[in-house]
Amino acid sequence: MEYKAFLIKYAEIGVKGKNRYRFEDALVQQMQYALKPVGDFKIRKESGRIFAEAQEEYDYDEAIAALRCVFGISGICPIIVEEDKAFDNIEKVLGDYMSERYDDLAFTFKVNVRRADKSYPMQSMEVAALLGEKLLDRFEELTVDVHHPQVLITVEIRDKVYIYTEEIPGPGGMPIGTNGKAMLLLSGGIDSPVAGYMISKRGVRIDAVYFHAPPYTSERAKQKVVDLARIISRYTGPIHLHIINFTDIQMAIYEKCPHDELTIIMRRYMMKIAEHFAKECGAQALITGESIGQVASQTMQSLFCTDAACSIPVFRPCIGMDKNDIVDMSEKIGTYETSILPYEDCCTIFVAKHPVTKPRLDVIEKSERKLADCIDELMEAALSSEEVIRVCADE
Ligand code: ATP
Ligand code: MG
Repeated sequence: MEYKAFLIKYAEIGVKGKNRYRFEDALVQQMQYALKPVGDFKIRKESGRIFAEAQEEYDYDEAIAALRCVFGISGICPIIVEEDKAFDNIEKVLGDYMSERYDDLAFTFKVNVRRADKSYPMQSMEVAALLGEKLLDRFEELTVDVHHPQVLITVEIRDKVYIYTEEIPGPGGMPIGTNGKAMLLLSGGIDSPVAGYMISKRGVRIDAVYFHAPPYTSERAKQKVVDLARIISRYTGPIHLHIINFTDIQMAIYEKCPHDELTIIMRRYMMKIAEHFAKECGAQALITGESIGQVASQTMQSLFCTDAACSIPVFRPCIGMDKNDIVDMSEKIGTYETSILPYEDCCTIFVAKHPVTKPRLDVIEKSERKLADCIDELMEAALSSEEVIRVCADE
């Protein structure tokens, strides 16, 4: 079965008036981005519907996979488009479609007709009833069930006739760009790519920041983060990945601060730097992959100390998730295999054997004062070490 077009359904909750146009335009834009590597598609809005029409041959599975990455889509319906709206023609096209699409027609069905073209000479109910009858005549295995049909056949009579029987679930959420922008702290682990995915699913555009510590962390570790950013950019759209050299700050903390507080203090400087770049690129919040109690630096007390280092909101969408659930999600979005590659992270290089699990903010701040003579300069140097890579799914 070859489909030349898809009808895209989206959840309309809260999408009214002016917002609706913004929502639809963002959705169209993201669909164009997703389908670009698949082939030439024309994306068209028409009275509460969005159509993606293939302008050339394309791979069906690739197109579905691409559309399933577009937040805001609730359903993808492969459709048959027919110009001739005469009833006899609709009947024939529908019958031919059914026999080509289904090897076995031993199922229950219902025909649902929508008539957007009010000048059409027949009423919707009448068309539906007649089409049902004709199908029963042509295929004796078919049975009608108007309450719980196994296959719902939808026929929309508009400028043309559109027929579909399938709705492949989309990812849901809101289109990227409809809800501001946030800065993801992206490490090479399992959690942070999932966190970025979850926030961008709400329509938030993201940029990312990665801290590395050469020569303690390798080029391969950095490449892994670029790869992770590329995988999530299938969903989020292009990401500017800000790569920051964190070595000297980390060394200074290691030399001057109590070792059981290393991770917390380090994390606090990461937050400060991430906030700087967030503000610079118009992001209104930070995102991390933290989850309560996962490690010492993620207890309630630790999270409190981390939060206190920055003045913009920190979103932690994995906060209430078990590691297993985060792993499941990373498998689903395709980041897991890359995340488990065994390259070192800057946090794992200078870890204490017994990190504090209940840090007190006043104690941490006191320890940080030991950095007073060098930290401004080191922060300055870290900020100017910034390397930006634009990461995009189709490059
Ligand atoms: P992940 O799987 O996300 O790496 P993790 O358990 O390794 O999680 P931690 O080392 O505890 O995470 O870090 C918690 C969060 O801090 C990460 O989810 C990430 O958002 C951020 N983070 C940690 N290390 C880095 C880094 N090198 N660069 C950027 N962000 C980082
Ligand atoms: Mg983690």
